[in-house]
Amino acid sequence: MGLELSGVTVRYGATEAVSEVDLSVADGEVLALLGPSGCGKSTLLRAVAGLERPNAGQVRWDGTDLSGVAVHRRGFGLVFQDGQLFPHRDVAANVAFGLRMHGVDRAARSRRVDELLELVGLDGYQQRRVTELSGGEQQRVALARALAPAPRLLLLDEPLSALDRVLREQLAVDLAGLLRQTGTTALVVTHDHDEAFTLADRVALMQAGRIRQVGPPDEVWRRPADEEVAGFLGCTTFVPGTASDGVVSSVLGAVDLPGTADGSVRLGLRANALRADTEGSVRGEVVQRLHRRDHARLLVRLDVVASPVEAVAPVVGPPGTGDHVHLVLDPDGVAVIQPSFVDSRP
Ligand code: ADP
Repeated sequence: MGLELSGVTVRYGATEAVSEVDLSVADGEVLALLGPSGCGKSTLLRAVAGLERPNAGQVRWDGTDLSGVAVHRRGFGLVFQDGQLFPHRDVAANVAFGLRMHGVDRAARSRRVDELLELVGLDGYQQRRVTELSGGEQQRVALARALAPAPRLLLLDEPLSALDRVLREQLAVDLAGLLRQTGTTALVVTHDHDEAFTLADRVALMQAGRIRQVGPPDEVWRRPADEEVAGFLGCTTFVPGTASDGVVSSVLGAVDLPGTADGSVRLGLRANALRADTEGSVRGEVVQRLHRRDHARLLVRLDVVASPVEAVAPVVGPPGTGDHVHLVLDPDGVAVIQPSFVDSRP
């Protein structure tokens, strides 16, 4: 059954940080709690860990209410943004910490430490001082330490946020593999979309203390519950559309979006929804061009949409600022907001 939250509310004085949250994490599932800074993610995670007492609602594990169960008796592992390793202990002693607390004997501890360090890619690091490790290595040690006692639930609070981008992307892929390999049930708090979508079986979107939508990554990405959620997920332009037989038509043209129920919809466009293409039927004028990591980002004034829209172009070549451009609609960058999805959100 795993973790179940019902009606969980946490207040700090007059601030309601978490409001009536219902959420579950099934055995073996990885759920990412994604939302902007300050929306209540960490507070919710702390309530699950037992570090924060909810003002209302219940946290249950396999059907048992945990309200009277102390933090260290919940059987949950914790990983924070900055690792919080013991600086005066070596890597092995850090990883062995939870095992010592559980009274595991020395030989078994040593075997388990070796096993975990190999798992996180730090074989041979046993005697290294944690203060001599890079940020990424420290987070791997923190992960090994949390996993060592085989927690029934792993709670990760922005585990990769302190790392630079390249390392973060690599570690996110490694962490996703590691959680699957160990069959770990996990709740990951993050404000980073890529991280959430890389790690999670399901994503729960949180805004202003409330869960706005829960679903598999592709569904949340493709079918946000409303414009606010879509905006958080990168949609910058919204246009009305009509769906018929899996094809959605709008002033920007028609795109195949199988599974869309017939009727009126809103289309949410991310920057890559419109692409410079000489064959494109949407015409406009480039008002700004910026060089991004692997593409050029355009701001284009169109006749058919009131505000300038974002579009992408190859890094090399035209169009430049002031040029006329033709654009095509790419379904990859399009999200669909359907009235029924707004009604069915939790
Ligand atoms: P997130 O993890 O999404 O960034 P938090 O859970 O840390 O958000 O914070 C949610 C809200 O609760 C914020 O308005 C924050 O200022 C407030 N808050 C968090 N912790 C405390 C605290 N210990 N005392 C008072 N207010 C707090």
